[in-house]
Amino acid sequence: MNKKFEEVFSRMRFDGVVRFMEPMSNHSSLKIGGPADIFFMPRDFSSLRELLMTLKREAIPYFPLGGGTNVLIKDEGISGAVISLKSLNGIEVLGEDETSVHINAQAGIPLQKLAAYSRDNGLAGIEWLVGIPGLLGGAIFGNAGAFGSEMKDVLLSVWLLDANGMLNRFRKEDIHFGYRSSAISLKDIIASGELRLRKDIRENIASRMNQFMREKRERQPLAEPSAGCVFKNPPGKAAGKLLDEAGCKGLSRGDIEVSRVHANFFINRGRGTASDFLRLMGEVSRLVHERFGVILEPEIKIVGRERVNG
Ligand SMILES: Cc1cc2nc3c(=O)[nH]c(=O)nc-3n(C[C@H](O)[C@H](O)[C@H](O)COP(=O)(O)OP(=O)(O)OC[C@H]3O[C@@H](n4cnc5c(N)ncnc54)[C@H](O)[C@@H]3O)c2cc1C
Repeated sequence: MNKKFEEVFSRMRFDGVVRFMEPMSNHSSLKIGGPADIFFMPRDFSSLRELLMTLKREAIPYFPLGGGTNVLIKDEGISGAVISLKSLNGIEVLGEDETSVHINAQAGIPLQKLAAYSRDNGLAGIEWLVGIPGLLGGAIFGNAGAFGSEMKDVLLSVWLLDANGMLNRFRKEDIHFGYRSSAISLKDIIASGELRLRKDIRENIASRMNQFMREKRERQPLAEPSAGCVFKNPPGKAAGKLLDEAGCKGLSRGDIEVSRVHANFFINRGRGTASDFLRLMGEVSRLVHERFGVILEPEIKIVGRERVNG
């Protein structure tokens, strides 16, 4: 397998990291995940484009990865290529008027860096990003949100790179964002997002951020390995509350435990596996269904190859 890949990729013009059989546990906030056949971290946009065209030509499947903070990667790993967007992380100001500034931020920018940039430049609208790990591309893909705001509120448009290496700009109205979801195809790579941020006084922005951070620290187990909320909130209900009332806090399978701080967070106590995580998801879903008749839907994206028996 490696030989075939090595031959194909040695001919490609590519600047960045390339690794074979890369453990995905090194790239997920849960610290879980078997090896990806091949892992790429392009350092520039033309390498990313060249990579996509090569993968298409060779019919190799690929999976775009941001910060790995909202994924459960199976123990069996990932077939084909994982493309990490981490190195594409610039911000550019495209224009401004009296009340707002229009920026284009690349998909690999960490949300914490984007939040700090907005605060330092007196730009409001994304204060709620504080405490959310991950990168902008992942936040756009899943329409991340907190404290009543979500990504789509500040987005103007998204630049998508398709499997043929073509870059196209889509207005947010054409992307169909929903609650923790978007209609962005799994074959497309989010290259960057254009955001409109409101001018405001720096101290006001910082004070809102501090308040959000305080609330988040009180309510969520931020210091332990997790992937954020495991399940989406069912209409009109909070998944964490249903899980709590169904007696799930503290339940565990192997080293994966339902957080005692927030029942919608599962913590990896050290040696947790994806199969433990999935078993625990099944168990708590059953408890919530039995108690409230509600079917919980995963918020985390579950990826990876199926277990091969025998
Ligand atoms: C402690 C903690 C707190 C959190 N709090 C919140 C919260 O308050 N609100 C919230 O919404 N989330 C929260 N999360 C979840 C997570 O951090 C966010 O959803 C974040 O936006 C995911 O970004 P990521 O870069 O890590 O995405 P990843 O986990 O890397 O990927 C998620 C999905 O996006 C896709 N994707 C990533 N980048 C791209 C790209 N460039 N192009 C195409 N597809 C891409 C991936 O293929 C995958 O399907 C929390 C997580 C943790 C661990």
